[in-house]
Amino acid sequence: MIWNPWHGCHKISEGCRNCYVYRMDAKYEKDSSSVKRNKCFYDLIKRKRDGSYKIEKGETIYTCFTSDFLIEEADEWRSEAWDMIRERRDLHFIFITKRIDRFIECIPEDWNEGYDNVTVGCTCENQEMADYRLPIFKASPIKHRIIICEPLLGQIDLKGYSDNGIEMVIAGGESGENARICSYDWVLNLRKQCLDSNTGFYFKQTGARFIKDGKLYNIKRSLQHSQAKKANIDIENKNLPFDF
Ligand code: SF4
Repeated sequence: MIWNPWHGCHKISEGCRNCYVYRMDAKYEKDSSSVKRNKCFYDLIKRKRDGSYKIEKGETIYTCFTSDFLIEEADEWRSEAWDMIRERRDLHFIFITKRIDRFIECIPEDWNEGYDNVTVGCTCENQEMADYRLPIFKASPIKHRIIICEPLLGQIDLKGYSDNGIEMVIAGGESGENARICSYDWVLNLRKQCLDSNTGFYFKQTGARFIKDGKLYNIKRSLQHSQAKKANIDIENKNLPFDF
């Protein structure tokens, strides 16, 4: 299930240009750049009449998918969010960030080498961001980590970083009206790096403008995930601590 404790974000790198949060909010004339705490903030610890949690144990909680968990504006709310994540050790949390350079200043005091029930995803949409973010990611104390290459904007050499305890690399093209091109060659190149380093790989979606064998395909939103699945190039990691 999705838990969005806060909503809104500001753009910080090329991958943000056609951010889906901005696209969704634009439909309702909402200002995406203003970060607000959501009403569902305390949902994780809500209980039923019999005293058990409303959200049952074992769920994967996709956290903060309409913001960035490490965004500055949420600094005042994050310690309470960590408290709930700590309380709900029976759930597995996954958040994806473009702000891994804020990670160390955002973790709780008892984090040590990381919580077992948290997976952190570091987004690298191009080589520049891979070169900047992956060394920081590698140096950060995290128990479960994945790399997100989405929207994939060019060929990316992970330079061996897929080898360092990375449980999965996820690749995908960009969707939306102004989507930039994604090439299948870039996807296959990432996959090869994962094969070589024994890392899981998931081709999540083609995006709206996809090049394969030199031909550009405009792919409808409803087909972008299924077309990626048809490629049948995923590499399973049976030890992943969360469900897709
Ligand atoms: S970090 Fe994510 S949510 Fe924030 S603007 Fe960029 S793409 Fe959007």
